[in-house]
Amino acid sequence: MTDSRANTRHMPLYIGGERVDTAEHDEIRSPIDGQLVGTAARGGPNEMEYAIAAAKAAHELGDWRNMDPDGRSDILIAISERMNELQDELCALHVRENGVTIRAAIAFHVGYAISHLRYFADCARTYEFEKAGPMLEFPTLAAGLVRREPVGVCGAIVPWNFPLLLAIWKIGPALAAGNTIVVKADEKTPLILLRFAEIAHECGLPPGVLNIVTGAGEVVGAQLAAHPDVRKIAFTGSTAVGKQVQKAATDNLKKVTLELGGKGPNIVLEDADLKEAVDGTLFAFLVYSGQACESGTRLLLHNDIHDEFMEALITRAKTVRMGDPMDFDTDMGPVISAEQKARITRYIESGKAEGATLVLGGGTPEAVVGGHWVEPTIFTDVSNDMKIAREEIFGPVLSVIRIHSEDEAIAIANDTEYGLSAGVWTNDTDRGIEIARKIESGTVWVNDWHMVNHLYPFGGYKQSGQGRELGPHAMDEYTESKFIHADMTRDLDAHIFDVVVSTPWEDM
Ligand code: NAD
Repeated sequence: MTDSRANTRHMPLYIGGERVDTAEHDEIRSPIDGQLVGTAARGGPNEMEYAIAAAKAAHELGDWRNMDPDGRSDILIAISERMNELQDELCALHVRENGVTIRAAIAFHVGYAISHLRYFADCARTYEFEKAGPMLEFPTLAAGLVRREPVGVCGAIVPWNFPLLLAIWKIGPALAAGNTIVVKADEKTPLILLRFAEIAHECGLPPGVLNIVTGAGEVVGAQLAAHPDVRKIAFTGSTAVGKQVQKAATDNLKKVTLELGGKGPNIVLEDADLKEAVDGTLFAFLVYSGQACESGTRLLLHNDIHDEFMEALITRAKTVRMGDPMDFDTDMGPVISAEQKARITRYIESGKAEGATLVLGGGTPEAVVGGHWVEPTIFTDVSNDMKIAREEIFGPVLSVIRIHSEDEAIAIANDTEYGLSAGVWTNDTDRGIEIARKIESGTVWVNDWHMVNHLYPFGGYKQSGQGRELGPHAMDEYTESKFIHADMTRDLDAHIFDVVVSTPWEDM
């Protein structure tokens, strides 16, 4: 299964516009077959300190934040276009490094990364960095301006499941808004981000604007989250670590965004199109072997169609092809690591022990050799208080819960500490939207799943996170708001007066 286009060279860190190597290196082995994909420098406290200092120096120098936003946009566009040219190489590296299928790499992991970076490049041009407010007449005549200014040095901590895309969700708005950034890559998947740094460098990004450090989360990740010179931290990962990041960020009152775990309720009502809902349910829980935070892992299935639906779902699930992820016919690849497989296996055992019925999978597929593989696995007779219904498994495991009414479905959907994603399958779109209104979740799909869109906010209710990524408000998360009040009684010729009078607030 070794792909000849995969990258097998050594990748140093990227700090202050330079490649920085370290004494210790990590071997990155593919979850597909255990073969070496490449080696990466392993960052430690010194490298993280150096990276934050480089980002601070670049911010203070001001070349990037004072650059015309169109100029910043041009550089970000150049990077996304270069990524597009290198798409084959980037996809092959991504497939080898984190085991995603080539189809998903092209569409989501790399494809979205390119188009979302392009979106944020456009935001640099369209975002209102300064706008005039209404004239103030009391207590004196005054003009008001609201500016959005970069916060300074930003930190980003990203997980292994979508290492490039989730970094772009932070790098894109941070750089479009004029900040500098230090990204902590995940230990398991640093290569794709270090390759991205080379591309950004080649496209003329000034030194220190983007810095990428690898290394242990509890060492360099914690350091980044706590550092007094970092003014904003954006984290994607588990809820447990997200809480630690938030605590570490309080000492200097950083701005914080957290994208955390999920346990997506997937409601299939009695009037749903059976075939569409079966395919949609598989898509919802099997994308990237169930290792997507917004997967649909709790199927809330209406009693009236339960047996017919389950028969069709199991039949269809048996056709899911597992094998070489570089093969376009492959539907599902491995899970990320031996530890992750062991964790998933423990959940499968707990499902059996708590009395759920294992109706599909639960083991290792026969067709694969080496690597870390888990079969598509389905439990029926699940109740919402079982561990497999309450905790995020992060593997290809579906827990099916029988429901008898819309109200019961909504109550069970909301009976969770998570609130990242949800879905409803029904032939009546209005009914689906009405149910969507009642679900406590950052995203709800009606007759679809995984359709994250860069124009719309993404994030979680409750313990699934804080703040939102994507959409124009992502730019707000990376800027400070400044109100400039200018007394106008002495200077009616001031330029600001024309601006304020000619463009009243409500027209903007
Ligand atoms: P994780 O929380 O273990 O690690 C995420 C990142 O945090 C890694 O880079 C890691 O090195 C770093 N880290 C670890 N300990 C740290 C600490 N003490 N301080 C600072 N950083 C630290 O998560 P994971 O296992 O890599 O990823 C899986 C989890 O991520 C799942 O729970 C999944 O739901 C979640 N996730 C959420 C989203 C989302 O957008 N909501 C997206 C992808 C993944």
